[in-house]
Amino acid sequence: MLTGKEYIESLRKRNIKVYFMGELLDSATLSENPFLRGHFNAAAMTYDMAFDPVCKDLLNVSSHLTGKTINRFTHVHQSCEDLVKKVKMLRAISLRTGSCYQRCVGCDALNAAYTVTYEMDKALGTQYHERLKKFLLYVQENDLMVAGAMTDPKGDRGLSPGKQADPDLFVHVVKRDDKGIVIRGAKCHMTGMINSHEMLVMPTMAMGPDDKDYAVACALPVDAPGVLHIFGRQTNDGRKADGDLDQGNPRFAVVGGECLTVLEDVFVPWEKVFMCGETDFAGLLVERFASYHRQNYGGCKGGVSDIVIGAAALAADMGGYAKAAHVKDKLNQMIHLTETLYCCSIACSAEGAKTASGAYYVNPLLANCSKHNVTSLIYEIDRLAQDIGGGILATMPSEKDMNHPEVGKYVQKYLRGTASVPTEDRIRVLRLLENMTGGVALVESMHGAGSPQAQKVMYSKLANLEMKKQCVKDLVGIK
Ligand code: SF4
Ligand code: FE
Repeated sequence: MLTGKEYIESLRKRNIKVYFMGELLDSATLSENPFLRGHFNAAAMTYDMAFDPVCKDLLNVSSHLTGKTINRFTHVHQSCEDLVKKVKMLRAISLRTGSCYQRCVGCDALNAAYTVTYEMDKALGTQYHERLKKFLLYVQENDLMVAGAMTDPKGDRGLSPGKQADPDLFVHVVKRDDKGIVIRGAKCHMTGMINSHEMLVMPTMAMGPDDKDYAVACALPVDAPGVLHIFGRQTNDGRKADGDLDQGNPRFAVVGGECLTVLEDVFVPWEKVFMCGETDFAGLLVERFASYHRQNYGGCKGGVSDIVIGAAALAADMGGYAKAAHVKDKLNQMIHLTETLYCCSIACSAEGAKTASGAYYVNPLLANCSKHNVTSLIYEIDRLAQDIGGGILATMPSEKDMNHPEVGKYVQKYLRGTASVPTEDRIRVLRLLENMTGGVALVESMHGAGSPQAQKVMYSKLANLEMKKQCVKDLVGIK
């Protein structure tokens, strides 16, 4: 297993093309770039915590392929206990980073592909599962970070992939030969992509029989020839060029760090192709991946909310109003909502089941509920945090003003809360709260792992409404 430092060193060797603000960045020094640094540091925590005696049990696990100890982010779940430990691990890491650490997406993609390739081979006589296992072994042995690449641009949402005016709006195969395939298209909102080693490309939705070229799953290095990434802007990212204080969480950023990944005629050898034309299995792969990823949200957002609760409580302490009954009540509401998020993630894990491949899969209905809770409860948690934090969250002068030779003394004097707390400490906490409860963090809670409508679609599919109707008929005596 790699340490966080070794992980970051290993990324320097890539020749990755990342554009940001109109510039091609130097690939060897991406981890030092002030706009990107926090995302690298957060992902590095998934490596460092594997060596922390307190968290070892959560982050270390025995590989079912080799028996060796590996990082849980490269593991295929072998029991419900594994699924539960994943959620606990995510909450523990969020408590240290206060932000997304991005590595879960690839873990979920590997697990989904592991279960689906097995079933596909059994049904169709294909040979994808052994290839997937080889790739998994490579990931485990080198402790790699894999970006899960699912979301296509999708163009006109009313048209299927093959009917789009521009055929590249969904990733598709443009050439096949005896060596491999060539793919073209793009993947959007790619969390952790720029600081990963490999990406696992998957279809974005169920495919019809006419969309064979679009039913493609494969793995490739993030710096393969023909691949480039355009890194997105985030709320308040201009502050990253300024001092630390104004950023709120300068070491780890706020959310994952997303990019648009362009695949311009990229060659992938057959040994890294895990689906090519099997349209009947595209929907299953999407569903499995989505459920594994939705499982996470009560864990990672539970931990992020713990930090928001802690920051709101500290803001109240530092402002001298922690004893007010309404503040205590709001903190209790926030705790209730956070634990509700967590309960759902634990439940979908504990209620998991073995798939034909031997790997364990979450209860998909409960996993969808878990993510769906996040699309509203985080807003309520953050609303309460902003209520406790006060209007100062939106009006604080900058770090530069605080340290200014003339006006610094006024910032120090008039932004003070209780006399025992230095003004700078109070501002640090309030800035963290400002950044964690606004902008991108909320959008990520709404749309990360799928928009709320994507979860609702799964309810009607999974909740067995007919059984409920039959129960009513039995109860009231309707034949
Ligand atoms: Fe992992 Fe949460 Fe980030 Fe998704 S949002 S990658 S589950 S930390
Ligand atoms: Fe996410």
